[in-house]
Amino acid sequence: MSRKLIVGGNWKCNGTQDDVKRIVEFLNKAEVPCTNHIEVVIAPPAPFLPILRSTLRSDFNLAAQNCWTGKGGAFTGEISAEMLMNLNVPWVILGHSERRTLLGESDEMVAEKVAYALSQGMKVILCCGETLEQREKNETTMVVARQIKAVADKIQSWNNVVIAYEPIWAIGTGKVATPQQAQEVHANIRAWLSQNVGEAVAQAVRIQYGGSVTAANCKEIGSQPDVDGFLVGGASLKPEFADILNARI
Ligand code: PGA
Repeated sequence: MSRKLIVGGNWKCNGTQDDVKRIVEFLNKAEVPCTNHIEVVIAPPAPFLPILRSTLRSDFNLAAQNCWTGKGGAFTGEISAEMLMNLNVPWVILGHSERRTLLGESDEMVAEKVAYALSQGMKVILCCGETLEQREKNETTMVVARQIKAVADKIQSWNNVVIAYEPIWAIGTGKVATPQQAQEVHANIRAWLSQNVGEAVAQAVRIQYGGSVTAANCKEIGSQPDVDGFLVGGASLKPEFADILNARI
């Protein structure tokens, strides 16, 4: 089955208004393959979403980096899925390892967020991945399956979910997973989905790789059969992001 490539740019907590202008300028100029073949989703910090909405090219989409577990209300500092939809931001990244580890988001909380965002019509990039210690103890498959199961237990449809496999030891470290390591985990995720959700879902769900993706390493990782794109952090702030969009060409 051919799955449409999807590349996300996760700016994390970076940037000023001037940076936004500069980045949007190179994104708007970037030559990318026909958007029938690739989907591009840019995830700036929340305060910059409206300015990107009005200045970013219309064939690139926008994501928030987080949203609340349910309907908005007395939740100081949070952003609701309703607000994002109201701002015309259709995507949200959920379960990023930085939020799981630094902010204590549990599998259950992430699953609740995914279910609520989907119920509001949003599309979700669901992050999963193991620590170095877990990998060394051969727990990668189990950890990733546990993270995905929590979500599978709460949602009915995977149509609007993309999974981002991001080994924590590879995030922001320059220590990228080998193409074989990425392929192995992606294939295991598909196998888990096949056994626990259904073969059609397993074949249709797109799985991105994330963790120190650069223009230099994206081609090899992107050529793996179960890698359907990337979630890019550091390199998404630089003009090389345009090269990553052309990884599969
Ligand atoms: P990185 O981050 O590309 O800087 O490693 C990836 C991510 O956290 O999504």
